[in-house]
Amino acid sequence: QNTINKIAAGEVIDRPASVVKELLENAIDAQATSVTVEIKDGGISFLRITDNGQGIAKEDIRPAFLRHSTSKITDARDLMTISSLGFRGEALSSIAAVAQVELISRQPADITGVRYVIEGGTEKSYDEIGAPSGTTFIIRNLFYNVPARKKFLKANQTEAGYIYTIVEKIALSHPDVSIRFINNNASKLFTAGNRDLKNIIYNIFGKEAAQKVIEIQTSSEFAAITGYVGKPEFSRGNRDYETFFVNGRYIKSSLISKAVEEAYRPYSMQHKYPFAVLHIEIQGDLIDVNVHPSKMEIRIKNQEEIFEFIHHTLKEALQERES
Ligand code: ADP
Ligand code: MG
Repeated sequence: QNTINKIAAGEVIDRPASVVKELLENAIDAQATSVTVEIKDGGISFLRITDNGQGIAKEDIRPAFLRHSTSKITDARDLMTISSLGFRGEALSSIAAVAQVELISRQPADITGVRYVIEGGTEKSYDEIGAPSGTTFIIRNLFYNVPARKKFLKANQTEAGYIYTIVEKIALSHPDVSIRFINNNASKLFTAGNRDLKNIIYNIFGKEAAQKVIEIQTSSEFAAITGYVGKPEFSRGNRDYETFFVNGRYIKSSLISKAVEEAYRPYSMQHKYPFAVLHIEIQGDLIDVNVHPSKMEIRIKNQEEIFEFIHHTLKEALQERES
């Protein structure tokens, strides 16, 4: 049982960055407007995520750590139109199987909260305590009981870098949520949560990026795009600067990359790849997010139409700028 849990955990949790991704997404799903992520030693020895969301009901605390327990899908049909970021109910059980987890949570309407400790899948304590409303997860000593996995981790600084990348993506995907990232007691990122995507671009990519972007805002009957793309002269050497969110989820999609890149083709650019931060909303029944556990891929059903829509939108925006 324990071994099965540890193996299953490896599918969802392969490094500290995946813990951060899952817990940040849970905070956002819990309607948090402010989330703080703190890490030490690349997140391996210590990782704390505090949110001001709706908290976990006392009776749901223990079940939340059971495999495939989720509060987010109530009907099989929901799978087609998932609006929450999480839906598999695997993250908490997976994290608890391979780390020492401390959870403090209180729902706004409750007088007391709960402090719950679970290590290597075994409950250590459950106490009612006074707590701020919202949820705090402290994850200590990731993979302390799976030496083979721990050995596989990179240097602390590299792991911290992976976490930083995840936090940046989530900050860009949720301009409505204030996100703070602290690494070894130093503040690395703060977003205000005031929906100002350009300001987040400034914070993450710097002043030049914020100055050399064009705003995009278009919608059709089945999709909508908002965000920023770089002017052709602000091209980049690789696809790392193409950031796409579909229905609020960070995804990698060669279809979308190609649609964007093709729009830039008429402009001679220093580098091959444009800078882009695009939020694409696609009608729920036209996509399938249930492709891979990491959920970074999606299946788009009307590929040609979406390709055309994105390509056309960018082409127009670039042309408009020329004239
Ligand atoms: P999923 O996100 O797929 O539902 P998880 O294992 O990530 O599964 O979380 C299990 C459940 O724990 C969630 O469905 C949710 O009810 C609860 N939960 C987890 N994190 C939070 C949080 N930060 N605030 C409120 N509830 C949470
Ligand atoms: Mg989740």
